[in-house]
Amino acid sequence: MTRCQICGRRRNLRRDGMMAHHHVRAQTCPGTGFPPIEQDDGRLVQLLAETQEQGRRLTRELAAFYDRRANYIDPALIAACSRAVSLSLQLERRLTRHRAWPARFARQMERQGWGDPPPDYLRQRMEARP
Ligand SMILES: [Zn+2]
Repeated sequence: MTRCQICGRRRNLRRDGMMAHHHVRAQTCPGTGFPPIEQDDGRLVQLLAETQEQGRRLTRELAAFYDRRANYIDPALIAACSRAVSLSLQLERRLTRHRAWPARFARQMERQGWGDPPPDYLRQRMEARP
């Protein structure tokens, strides 16, 4: 069992080594078909950039409606804006926690002598630029 890059759920891998299809809140998880977090975090970085851009664009769009004092704003636009912004904040927290994994492991080893070891690519990345 490996963990999904986007939602963190434990799922089996497909035969080609990618995450099996799974749902989060009745939607197909965007981590489906990508490598698990133990192998790569590229999808998380990419999706974070995409949702941040989408959140900024929708916020600008909404602000334009407010600025010109529009009488009607489509509720779907407000919902889409809040969804994109909250997803981007969630992914940002997730990426921050993921990048702190080697430091967390070092702390765990120091404090209790056992812990959750980070994947090799994270360890190598940290050794490359300390
Ligand atoms: Zn997922």
